Amino acid sequence: MTNEHYDLLVIGGGSVGIAAARRAASHGARCAVVESGRLGGTCVNRGCVPKKVMWYAADIAGYLHDAPDYGFEVETRGFDWPALVQRREAYIARLNGIYGRLLDDSRVDLIKGHAHFAGPHQVDVEGRAYTADRVIIATGGRPTRPEIPGADFGIDSDGFFELVKQPKRVAVVGAGYIAVELAGVMNALGSEVSLLLRRQHFLGRFDACIRESLASMMQEDGVDILSSVQLTSVEKGPDGRLILHGDRGQVLEGVDTLVWAIGRDLNSDDLGLINTGVETRADGRIEVGEWNETNVPGIYAVGDVSGQAALTPVAIMVGRRLADHLYGRDPVPPVDLSLVPTVIFSHPPVGSIGLSEDEARALHGDAVKVYQSRFTPLYHALTRHKHVTTMKLVTLGAEERVVGCHIVGLGADEMLQGFAVAIGMGATKTDFDRTIAIHPTSSEELVTLR
Ligand code: FAD
Ligand code: NDP
Repeated sequence: MTNEHYDLLVIGGGSVGIAAARRAASHGARCAVVESGRLGGTCVNRGCVPKKVMWYAADIAGYLHDAPDYGFEVETRGFDWPALVQRREAYIARLNGIYGRLLDDSRVDLIKGHAHFAGPHQVDVEGRAYTADRVIIATGGRPTRPEIPGADFGIDSDGFFELVKQPKRVAVVGAGYIAVELAGVMNALGSEVSLLLRRQHFLGRFDACIRESLASMMQEDGVDILSSVQLTSVEKGPDGRLILHGDRGQVLEGVDTLVWAIGRDLNSDDLGLINTGVETRADGRIEVGEWNETNVPGIYAVGDVSGQAALTPVAIMVGRRLADHLYGRDPVPPVDLSLVPTVIFSHPPVGSIGLSEDEARALHGDAVKVYQSRFTPLYHALTRHKHVTTMKLVTLGAEERVVGCHIVGLGADEMLQGFAVAIGMGATKTDFDRTIAIHPTSSEELVTLR
């Protein structure tokens, strides 16, 4: 075995891996990234990017549907799923190439293959040994499958992005981001969709105004939301279609595509961590302390595998900041993850940051004051099919500092980022009120709430 030595070896060429290695190299560190799959990781290949392309397609379907209400005579002769998938994948292949060139330009070595620790500072890849002073584990996760009979008749979000033709009758199981987003996309593109929740509601971590408003709009748009269904088995019927069985005797027949969207397992189990002494939790999360360092000095875990908010910008910012801390000249503070803005690409989209009303009341009781608005955006004044917009500001104390902002409605996805800056700076309701509105928009409602 040859032995090559680096200052920093990053395992995983996803959001964290590319960002952290390039930043460390910019400070003069000798770096390599080990990647077993396609560069860019989950976000680029099986997550944010292909999902957003599908969301745009679904959005266009909505505009085409509304177009006659704005005077257009449109005739849509169908939707070519395979053509869209082909263009989407060509774009992703271009991104894979761009990431390769970015690593090259940053003088980061790319080592292709599956990394396995042979010791705390030695990683073996495809029969070659690499040593490093420091290692960042950035191996992300993979979709979870339930352990019930027939589970493998279903696909997961990775499988969704491999579908070469549009499913007709779909059942999506899950209650998080992915379930809501994929159910919305397929419904808007014309599939018949059932969304199966094991509890009463989806998006349990979000403010009730988001859950309730989005659920009712999805139902009006044709998604069949089935609450309190815990699947116990799946079988294939004589016609080749799936039959789903619930724990209370529920049966759903005629399903041609079943999509599991019930969370993600973390890629910490196949890394040889036993050879390092790095500790993991029962759910696979790698335990980290200050600066994302594991219990073994010099080994760090960043991104989804560390159990931090599983969002690409979080992964990138934490990875870069760690590289600055380890190799930069000037001291930097750790990333503040107390206020993470997030968007769910549903129809209409959701934007959310900070405490929900329930969380704020549980923490601060009567010191919480809430401002809320519900309205039909101007765009829908002329359309027969309508989506309402709901907005909520959660404020705290006599000064009414804004500690939560929750929006569901047209444009919420693009609206939140700027408000996140203000809220991160400690904006109060008075600061919102003294901001001159932009008219006519939906976002102006947020600075005119009474
Ligand atoms: P990853 O991007 O998963 O990268 C890990 C890399 O490590 C992978 O490329 C993998 O092949 C590699 N790897 C694993 N084990 C090894 C090994 N032993 N040796 C070598 N290589 C290895 N986030 C958003 O912010 N916005 C969104 O809209 C959004 N949409 C999403 C949609 C879906 C369907 C999914 C699944 C996720 C989405 N996310 C979104 C989440 C986002 O993709 C992740 O939070 C982000 O990719 C995490 O980055 P990471 O670097 O931690 O891991
Ligand atoms: P989530 O953790 O968001 O949601 C999974 C949900 O599935 C759980 O909350 C749970 O809801 C439900 N669930 C778990 N087990 C079962 C089961 N056996 N049967 C039925 N339902 C079950 O995971 P996702 O996979 O949706 O997404 C993973 C992460 O990726 C997200 O948390 C997010 O951070 C990121 N992501 C971000 C996106 C964005 O930024 N737009 C888009 C997609 C993903 P309950 O407990 O209520 O039943």
